[in-house]
Amino acid sequence: MSKIFLKNAYVMKSSDSETKKYNIAVNDGKIIKITGENDFFDENGYEIFDLNNKLITPGFINSHSHAVMTYFRGNSDDTTIKEWLFDNMLPREEFLNDEMAYYGAMTGFMEMISSGITTSVDMYMFTDSISKAAADTGIRAYVSRGLSYDTQEGWERRINENIETYKKYNNYDGRIKIGFGPHAPYTVPMEKFRELSEIINDYKESINQIHIYEGLWEKESYKLSDLEETGFLSHNVIAAHCVHADDEDIKILKRNNVTVAHNPSSNMKLGSGTAPIKKFIDSGINVTLGTDGAGSNNSLNILKEAHMASMLQKNTIGPEKIKKEEILKMCWENGAHALNEKIGEIREGYMADLVVFDLNDEEWLPNNTVKFKSHLVYNIPKKSLYATMINGKWVYFDRKFPGINKEDIYEKFGKYCDKIEADFYNYSNNLGK
Ligand SMILES: [Zn+2]
Repeated sequence: MSKIFLKNAYVMKSSDSETKKYNIAVNDGKIIKITGENDFFDENGYEIFDLNNKLITPGFINSHSHAVMTYFRGNSDDTTIKEWLFDNMLPREEFLNDEMAYYGAMTGFMEMISSGITTSVDMYMFTDSISKAAADTGIRAYVSRGLSYDTQEGWERRINENIETYKKYNNYDGRIKIGFGPHAPYTVPMEKFRELSEIINDYKESINQIHIYEGLWEKESYKLSDLEETGFLSHNVIAAHCVHADDEDIKILKRNNVTVAHNPSSNMKLGSGTAPIKKFIDSGINVTLGTDGAGSNNSLNILKEAHMASMLQKNTIGPEKIKKEEILKMCWENGAHALNEKIGEIREGYMADLVVFDLNDEEWLPNNTVKFKSHLVYNIPKKSLYATMINGKWVYFDRKFPGINKEDIYEKFGKYCDKIEADFYNYSNNLGK
């Protein structure tokens, strides 16, 4: 693995640090040395990148996504959540296969990387294809098989798939981790959560995912205290949404150390409501940010989510109640905390997951270091994103993906997208007959 030395850049080490000029030495996937602007460093043996008038920040952590759903962007924009899910998403998903899922995930991960996401937490079917796409794009990924219960046979088949993907991909290149993903307590009965908890006992390190209280109607369908009683919540859980968590639910989330993944664009677009993020934070719950899938967001730009999360809270509880540093912490330090990984900060000994912005772009004007956090959260500077490093490797550099044939991937993606729409059209016509 190559040794890299990043010189002359402005560096924002974390959500609460000042932005200053530093040099960063990377070796074997890790940040091994950070030196001051004028400190001596023996550059011998290092590949040197002069990043003058550029800003390095920690890579962003997307804590809830469905990368394959990039196919469904724009399919059901102005509908209710039930029409969106039952009439548009689920029927289209029937037409996917392993190869299509691979190209959907490739396209989704590439979009994430070009918006500064270095880690993505993904729940879906086709976990082998998604893990392969993570391996090929270079993204750090936490992948879970979305588990639902229809028949005992179907349930067991999905769990077996989850375990098979675990055996094949867990710890691949030190950056792919496989966990379990029971979809939601309204698609999995409580006794199955109990069984699953027993299984997860053998996978103590795994990060597990679930959707909780995205829609208000879910409050009629199950109680969070019943889910707690199954033991599942205590297994390193990231719960997406939690829009309708009440005071009792907040206590349950807190005592089980559940991380809440907030997905503001998706929640607003589907009219799900406003998650009480500030209340979660004040209660000591770890809150992170997610893009959710492109079927409901529709973009996979985490900077937009940072912006939306801030706007939504300001407009609901007051503009002074949430600060940009708290928002950045959600996609950096809090994301890292949820995954128990040395990422989300630029520190010696941490993984070299970094993002580089080009400060020559008007998105960064006024070009004053004390305003850089403001520009990040309130100006969504995706256009000036210049490079993304994951595990010490450039996976995106000078706005290109080295080693990836982008045209070929986007062409296959387009072809499969057309096929899904043709199949869906035939299916819809047959329904009408
Ligand atoms: Zn989701």
